[in-house]
Amino acid sequence: MKAYHVHISGQVQGVGFRPYVYKLAEKMGVKGWISNTNDGVHIEFNANEAIAIQFYKAIIQSRPLHSIITHHYIDEIPFKEFSCFSIKESNTGHRPNLLFTPDIAICDECKREVLQNDNRWYDYPFTTCLHCGPRYSIITGLPYDRINTAMAPLPLCSKCEREYNDVYNRRHYSQTISCNECAIPMHLYNCNGVEISNNNETILSSVNSLLKEGSIIAVKGIGGYLLMCDATNDFSIAALRKRKNRPAKPFALLYPDIETVQSDVLLNKKETEALESAVAPIVLCQLKNETVTGVYRQLIAPA
Ligand SMILES: [Zn+2]
Ligand SMILES: [Zn+2]
Repeated sequence: MKAYHVHISGQVQGVGFRPYVYKLAEKMGVKGWISNTNDGVHIEFNANEAIAIQFYKAIIQSRPLHSIITHHYIDEIPFKEFSCFSIKESNTGHRPNLLFTPDIAICDECKREVLQNDNRWYDYPFTTCLHCGPRYSIITGLPYDRINTAMAPLPLCSKCEREYNDVYNRRHYSQTISCNECAIPMHLYNCNGVEISNNNETILSSVNSLLKEGSIIAVKGIGGYLLMCDATNDFSIAALRKRKNRPAKPFALLYPDIETVQSDVLLNKKETEALESAVAPIVLCQLKNETVTGVYRQLIAPA
């Protein structure tokens, strides 16, 4: 039995690296620890040489979905014995050398949960998991841990705490976990700054009606404010253009799914891939002359 140290750098924080390695170590009977640092992740463990190489190769080859590995190495270190595998507290004593993980769009599994009315994540707008949710926008320091994000002041409820600590839960060690019970608080204000509601359910239905009535809503989201209005309402779009003093620059459109996008927009393969990618960025595309949804083309993207 020997002791080894592995260092991996790149986009390795906020992508589920620690829980992934933890599970792999359990499966292979490897004991030691993993920790986030300013320069990536470090792992120390006990194994014989053959298992060590197998463990190391498995980490690199079947790494978590959204990770990018730029450097990695394994070294034998002076022998020390570990009694179990653990996720060790992060350590800041290294020079920063990390690729920042971007914000990742809600994944299919979380989306499904948000829509199931018997699910505890039903209608919760900040539902995330190990593989989706904000990262770059909420990081206030390194390494990536809840304490170094804008979510630091929010304590977990007992249900979230249980999922966070459950190795076999898909939110194991998910730093952005929060649910309806330990929710990120929502508030709805009118244009005079008077609070109308602080109840999530009421807010969501009110915003829905207000948009339909033609109101412009400023949504304080994860990465800043979004100004939203009904893209089929020419009065609302015109008011937004006037208030923003933005006479011609195209506005971004939000669609519920790719099929609805395709009914309005000419999409090539690259554009479709970008829209369906994990990061789901805003993509510049061409609106069709006639839109099926009734999006007000002339005001959304003036020729
Ligand atoms: Zn998810
Ligand atoms: Zn909770």
